Amino acid sequence: MSEETNPFESLQSQIDDAAAYLDVGDDVIERLKHPERVLETNLTIERDDGDLERFKAFRSQFNGDRGPYKGGIRYHPGVSRDEVKALSGWMTYKTAIVDIPLGGGKGGIIIDPADYSESELERLTRSFAKELRPMVGEDRDVPAPDVNTGQREMNWIKDTYETLENTSEPGVVTGKALDSGGSEGRVDATGRSTVIAAREAFDYLDKDIEGATVAVQGYGNAGWIAARLIDEMGATVVAASDSSGGIYNPDGFDPVAAKDHKNETGSVVGFEGSEEEITNEDVLTLDVDLLIPAALENAVDADLAEDVEADVISEAANGPLTPAADEVLEAKDVFVIPDILANAGGVTVSYFEWVQNRQRFYWSEQRVNEELEGVIVDAFDALIEAYEEHDLENPRTAAYVVAIQRVADAFEEAGSWP
Ligand code: NAD
Repeated sequence: MSEETNPFESLQSQIDDAAAYLDVGDDVIERLKHPERVLETNLTIERDDGDLERFKAFRSQFNGDRGPYKGGIRYHPGVSRDEVKALSGWMTYKTAIVDIPLGGGKGGIIIDPADYSESELERLTRSFAKELRPMVGEDRDVPAPDVNTGQREMNWIKDTYETLENTSEPGVVTGKALDSGGSEGRVDATGRSTVIAAREAFDYLDKDIEGATVAVQGYGNAGWIAARLIDEMGATVVAASDSSGGIYNPDGFDPVAAKDHKNETGSVVGFEGSEEEITNEDVLTLDVDLLIPAALENAVDADLAEDVEADVISEAANGPLTPAADEVLEAKDVFVIPDILANAGGVTVSYFEWVQNRQRFYWSEQRVNEELEGVIVDAFDALIEAYEEHDLENPRTAAYVVAIQRVADAFEEAGSWP
């Protein structure tokens, strides 16, 4: 998040924007703007040299009206209480727009994991899992990977929890390795939802995805999978970038070969299928039919948005457009598929993992992909219904209108409690 933008304030203003179109009282909206609770804890672990070090960690449980809290745990020096609160709120509305029976949560530890050994990270992760133990569980709160955490950390959390609880409960976390109860299709899920949502948007706008030109900013897990899948749909990927720079070929290139090049050299730059090397900014402002930002938040600000020429943007990344950029793009009639829908494939397949863990019955990759397709198409249809019904100015507000209404309905249906 940028220094100037407090993410928690951004979340609250997005809720306020949508509230104007909702049949929900101000008192309920007030509830939906704040987390139910936030754990702030200090973890002290032994370094490999015998010294002790303290780390601050958080877990925000934003809303559980629709089901157990759900959301990742990130390890990053920029983690803060407000960032974790905001991210847990976005998870609440992400699970609601795709209509899976989960709430929203998020956690984090203030640390740069690159400075620590694997055994130090294991001690830290197990120490956090011990603190989280009373509040997590497959029916309470289900963490997942986020920035700088992955299958390894989830396997440690699961093992710590199961050991302390003397049970077998793989659904206490998702994003696990396949042998530890993970799901087929999880790795591709975010890129897959990004392109399914884009295909639906093109259909809605009466545009053809076949032959459409596509630029992808960020060629990591979300970006490269989106590039591969949109190419399989018949679109032409003409540009891609990573932190080292961008590549461009107006006739298109093979996204898999570009990824192979990145695996070998560390970057897409220098790929033989590229005609021209361009900057990261150039990738965002190319005259293409579809832009997929799949790197970091706040990649496009208001100034850059003035130069964006794409017709449709599908947000694989979380928060890639600043609120000011959103306004510029809305004025230019760019159709932006918001992150809470476009990248919701990740949490949706996490939900499938949780379902499979509970059933102790594991699905084929084909079944996972088919179920994901249905969830994303339904969510897109619900967004369009709200977009048209309220004559909204942008699809992001439409997504929040649908999501907030669903959470508010669950809260009100539960009735009052002293
Ligand atoms: P990743 O680390 O695998 O990839 C990030 C990519 O962005 C890398 O290729 C990196 O080189 C590139 N990058 C960094 N700075 C850049 C810059 N200035 N310009 C161009 N490229 C740059 O991460 P990921 O898992 O693909 O996540 C990407 C985004 O998608 C994040 O915002 C993340 O929150 C979001 N997301 C990911 C998932 C998931 O399941 N992976 C789910 C939901 C949301």
